[in-house]
Amino acid sequence: MVYRYHSRIMVEHLPERIDPLALAEKRRQFKGSLPLSQLVRLQEVLLNPDGLVRFELKFGKVGKLSMVTGYVEAELELQCQCCLGPIAWLVSNQVKLAVVSSIDEADLLPESCDPLLLEEETISLADILQEELLLAIPSIPQHGQCDASAAPREELAQTPDTPKRPNPFAVLAEMKK
Ligand SMILES: [Zn+2]
Repeated sequence: MVYRYHSRIMVEHLPERIDPLALAEKRRQFKGSLPLSQLVRLQEVLLNPDGLVRFELKFGKVGKLSMVTGYVEAELELQCQCCLGPIAWLVSNQVKLAVVSSIDEADLLPESCDPLLLEEETISLADILQEELLLAIPSIPQHGQCDASAAPREELAQTPDTPKRPNPFAVLAEMKK
């Protein structure tokens, strides 16, 4: 594994599972990166499994709400569903999550906040990042101007070069001299 050394370092700095409520009370912050290879569900939509997600997550309180803010950044390689070729997809998203413990609570959140549904006491840090990246990916990735859809038209326009035949008028021109 290419990232073995890297991920071992990460584990020292970043806990694998976190308690967002406790971290919000302590106003903890995490900044770092994680190999994309650790994000199993994301891998299903990636053409190239390599790369990193860089992130900063700040835990804090707004009134009674426990919040997670920050950003996620990654350069993903998706597969165009039109030509099956690679698409470089740059993710650079602000994170604004409010920790909730039920769907009802989530419904009460202002629209500017996404819910972070806490079903157990702790949640995997990688899961939070993975969710943010999945939200930033189109459901059907496609090139803006995909070659596959343009190709048939291009082929018509570029009819194979006709072999160079002597121009009959050139002969005429010669004769006029
Ligand atoms: Zn394409």
